[in-house]
Amino acid sequence: MSHYQKPPELYEGLRLHQNENTGGCSPRVLEALAALKPEQIGFYPPYAAATDAVASYLGVPVDRITLANGLDEGIMAVAVAYLRAAIGGPQLEAIVPEPAFEIFRFDTAVAGGRLVQVMPRPQFAFPLDEVLAAITPRTRVVFVTNPNNPTGVAMPLDAIRTIARRVPPGAVVFVDEAYAEFAGETFIPELDAFPNVIVGRTFSKAFGLAGLRIGCLVGAPETMYPIRQAIPVYSVNIAAVAAVQAALGDRAFLDGYLQQVAESKQILYAACDRLGLTYYPSRSNFVLVCAGDRLDALVKGAFEKGIYLRDRSTEPGCAGCLRIATGVVEHTKRAVAVMEEVLCAAR
Ligand code: PMP
Repeated sequence: MSHYQKPPELYEGLRLHQNENTGGCSPRVLEALAALKPEQIGFYPPYAAATDAVASYLGVPVDRITLANGLDEGIMAVAVAYLRAAIGGPQLEAIVPEPAFEIFRFDTAVAGGRLVQVMPRPQFAFPLDEVLAAITPRTRVVFVTNPNNPTGVAMPLDAIRTIARRVPPGAVVFVDEAYAEFAGETFIPELDAFPNVIVGRTFSKAFGLAGLRIGCLVGAPETMYPIRQAIPVYSVNIAAVAAVQAALGDRAFLDGYLQQVAESKQILYAACDRLGLTYYPSRSNFVLVCAGDRLDALVKGAFEKGIYLRDRSTEPGCAGCLRIATGVVEHTKRAVAVMEEVLCAAR
């Protein structure tokens, strides 16, 4: 089994390689953290108020919400709950349309599941027929991401409905909505009609809480039951509990960031057009850019100038591509200036 290559710990320059909120969190989050009392830190954390706040933000009853220590933990719990084989039973399968968030592959392996990759179509159009063809009686999870990472491309919600109707009993469709705030689209209102679908959300991206580690799973309680067993009882800490409530109480901060991201993408697209780089129009807070044979020069040149970009060229369908986060406008302008400098010098 290959291991997840964690990106190097780079914190000196401008981090555009992990799709975080480049401006950090709302100041209200810092106030909430500063207001924590010694006994709150001394006791195991209560989850009711944070779960209420998350449920009302997502417009679902509280029994549909499971908090997790980042969506990463939620994904691992889905894999452990649904992909572990019974003793002596057949190996269970996870379908992953590629290119995808790499963690799906690694968590499938950790849980002992068999990975069934579906290769991309041109322009990353969602490969619905290929996913349906990959379903077998042993399929237990179909991992999809909307909008997708690393492409930024959205998938049709109807594809989720079709897959959910076709998977065998006992299987789930996991819809990773880590970037849903940027796309303004979610499957959550349909969960009552599709009890075999689980949606994953995170507060790491639009809300800027990646360092605190909090996300959640949303779905029917009976589908969620085995997943809840796979999440440690107190996996979300008191700082994250306080922070998520404060972050959800500051919608103006969220709206402001969504606007910055939209503007940043336009700035990056215009720069790519000037530099002769192609890109995939993104519904997310990052853009997949194709630099072709200039990829290495661009990633290394930008790195030397303190701008971290993510080489995605080894992902299926992504030859010659890198991923660039588009956050605070001022950050995007700095990145674009460096990209122009590097590529003009390399000519
Ligand atoms: N899903 C996707 C598609 C992601 O890109 C990420 C973050 N890189 C996650 C899940 C994990 O988010 P979290 O920080 O909440 O663990």
